[in-house]
This record gives sequence, C-alpha cells and structure tokens, in this order.
Amino acid sequence: MNPLPGARRDLALDTKGFMPADEGDALHAAAADATDAVDGAPMLEVGSYCGRSTIWLGDVAEQAGRLLFAVDHHRGSEENQSGWEHHDNAVVDARTGKMDTLLFFRAAIHDAGLEDSVIALVGRSPLVASVWTTPLSFLFIDGGHGELPARLDYEGWARHVAPGGTLAIHDVFPDPADGGRPPYEQIYLPAIQSGDFVETSVTGSLRILRRN
Ligand code: SAH
Ligand code: MG
Repeated sequence: MNPLPGARRDLALDTKGFMPADEGDALHAAAADATDAVDGAPMLEVGSYCGRSTIWLGDVAEQAGRLLFAVDHHRGSEENQSGWEHHDNAVVDARTGKMDTLLFFRAAIHDAGLEDSVIALVGRSPLVASVWTTPLSFLFIDGGHGELPARLDYEGWARHVAPGGTLAIHDVFPDPADGGRPPYEQIYLPAIQSGDFVETSVTGSLRILRRN
C-alpha cells in the first residue's frame, strides 16, 4: 500500500487534533498491514474529534476497499472541556454552549475526499459497542481518557478485533510523569494480560498490538 499522499497528509496536519505526524504515519502503516492480514473486514476508530487521525486511517480504508467507522459523540472528552488543558474555544457551539466537533470532522472528511470510505457514528462509544457484531480488521482506540471511558472502550471494542487483526491504542503512558494512566492501565495492560494480543510496534504514545 502507498503511504498517505502528500496533499492528504498536509490536510491531516492542518486539521485540529492531537495526532503527531510520525504517529499518524505509523498508524497508517499498521492499518495497511492489518487490512492485508484480514480480508474484507472493516476498520473502526473510537475518538475522531475533528478528523485528524481519521484522514490517515480513511486513506487506508480507501486503498484497501474497506469502510472505516468513526465513533464519536463529538461533545469532547473531559480533558477537552473548558478550563482543561486540551480545550479549544473554537469548537464550542454558541447556541448550546457545548462542544461540537461534528462539523469540523465533516469538513475534514469532505476536503480529504473520503466520504465514500468513512462513516461517522455519532454517539456514545459504549452504546454503539453494545449493538456491534461485525469483526474488525483494525481498531483504533483514542476516545475518553478517564478511567471509566477507557475501561468501557476496552470491554466494548477489543473483542471485535478479528484474529490476525490489529488493536492500536493512543496516549499510552507507562510513566505517570508523561501523561494520564487510563489508556495504559485500562486498555493496554488488559489487552496484553488477556494473552490475546502481542505488541508489534511503539511510536511515541501509539502502541500497535496484533490479535493472535
Ligand atoms: N483521534 C483524534 C483525537 C481524539 S480526542 C485526533 O487524531 O486528533 C478524543 C475524542 O473522543 C473526542 O472527540 C471526544 O468527543 C471523544 N470521546 C470521548 N469519550 C467518548 C465516548 N464515551 N463516546 C464517544 N466519543 C467519546
Ligand atoms: Mg490521542
């Protein structure tokens, strides 16, 4: 599979969000391997925000002829709310006073030309997971980083990764000095301890795990 084309990569880097360039490229490579390894199965991302990581993954979906489901309630995580470190006033809807990143997401996917490959699922991740039954070639978890949302994302989604498929986790910080612990303690460690997943690469805070 080809790497993310330059114009799309520039668009991803111009899109608001939290995916560093080198980790986005690693995400693309891992998703390309996963779609090669698992025939036909779709991809799914939990936590799309304004669509930055979604552009890297949507490009893989397009090249592999898969669908990428992008799950987000678009109301922001705890750490995105007003007064927190990762807040951006530009994504607050003046009418409701709540965060709303859906229009930003939609613009990014439109501008990247990925509307035929990316399907937004707008809602709470555990609710979507509660009715999900389709095996996944690639699962990327980058949703709420509190203890409960992280645990529910692991419980709700990891079991849908097909054998030979991949679980990618963002913001994994084993050392508390580097960042919040829940993605490490509630997603990464349980995945490794289950014996179902083996780590295949690390780029920054991005961990790539392959399902046995
Ligand atoms: N992947 C993005 C960053 C995601 S930020 C990038 O590359 O920039 C985390 C996102 O998770 C936010 O948009 C937030 O709305 C979403 N989120 C947090 N908890 C959620 C939940 N329980 N259900 C659905 N979305 C959630
Ligand atoms: Mg992240």
